[in-house]
This record gives sequence, structure tokens and C-alpha cells, in this order.
Amino acid sequence: MEGVHHVVCHKCPFEGLYGSATHASVERTAHEQAYDHRVSSLEINRPEPSAEV
Ligand SMILES: [Zn+2]
Repeated sequence: MEGVHHVVCHKCPFEGLYGSATHASVERTAHEQAYDHRVSSLEINRPEPSAEV
């Protein structure tokens, strides 16, 4: 079971949760190139169903 990837920018409020490493990497790279910001990606395990609002 694949983890959830939390992508967060260090320079602006941009962030996102992605269900695949590939998608997270694409979004991270796109933001870094578009804004010249530093973005980090963290894999988090979330076994229980998502309860996000
Ligand atoms: Zn940013």
C-alpha cells in the first residue's frame, strides 16, 4: 500500500497531498520551476480513511 505524499513549499502557502510519489514529484517540480521556490516532499503513512475537510 502506497503512502500519501505531502508536498509543501517553504516560501509560500502552497502545499498538497498526493497519493503517488510520481504525482507528488511532478507537482513539486512544477512549483519549483514556476516560482523558483524550495519545495519539500514528505511521505506520510495514513492507513485509516481520509477525514479531511
Ligand atoms: Zn511556493
